[in-house]
Amino acid sequence: MIRFSEVYKRYTNQHEALSGLSFELDKGEMAFLTGHSGAGKSTLLKLIALIERSSHGQVWVNNQNLTRLPKWKVPYYRRKIGLVFQDHNLLHDRTVFDNVALPLIIAGENHREIGRRVRAALDKVGLLGKERSLPIALSGGEQQRVGIARAVVNRPPVLLADEPTGNLDPELSREIMRLFEQFNQVGVTVFVATHDQDLINRMPYRQITLQQGRLA
Ligand code: ADP
Ligand code: ADP
Repeated sequence: MIRFSEVYKRYTNQHEALSGLSFELDKGEMAFLTGHSGAGKSTLLKLIALIERSSHGQVWVNNQNLTRLPKWKVPYYRRKIGLVFQDHNLLHDRTVFDNVALPLIIAGENHREIGRRVRAALDKVGLLGKERSLPIALSGGEQQRVGIARAVVNRPPVLLADEPTGNLDPELSREIMRLFEQFNQVGVTVFVATHDQDLINRMPYRQITLQQGRLA
């Protein structure tokens, strides 16, 4: 599903964030991306989400060579990638419903389909009934679950998360991980960057560890 082949990423300041990185993730696999701060985890996820492009080497996702993907196709490609961030990036002046609906509105879905899909996504994260709430009225864990509902509302085959439990206590962190497992169990390829080693050591998934932009 995801294949990196000798991937280099050099930012404009010449800093090399990834140096000849090669690895594969199978379709339907769940894996963790670990490593110290600055090791290149966010950069790696950004290359998969096409927020950044590689400087050298090939990135393949879902049989598409991202290196060759023309710019105009990027927005369509991104619909197939669900993204979850540490600070969940919710719009605070919009309701939970509107936040989750956003990717569908951008994709031009019709009104009825949007209502159905938003409720299905909120149901999956255990937040049905909170549609009309503003994010500020929710707890940190609930806000993160809204972020996850928004990430999966398009039913993407790939779900990426960058330090999704960074601001949560251990119990809430475990709940968030269980949600990712549930999406993985219905076939979604899940890749989670984290440095919460205690949390992931108890879970039976592969760890891909970066050290200064290379596999450790
Ligand atoms: P991690 O997610 O593991 O903390 P990052 O991918 O964020 O690592 O960063 C890897 C390296 O690339 C770091 O040294 C960081 O300072 C650098 N870096 C990240 N983003 C940029 C950027 N936009 N411009 C320049 N350097 C960057
Ligand atoms: P529909 O009613 O159109 O089939 P749903 O949103 O109710 O759509 O999802 C149907 C099933 O697909 C659910 O069991 C759901 O868990 C699963 N599923 C498959 N891929 C995804 C994904 N990327 N995100 C969320 N759910 C998914």
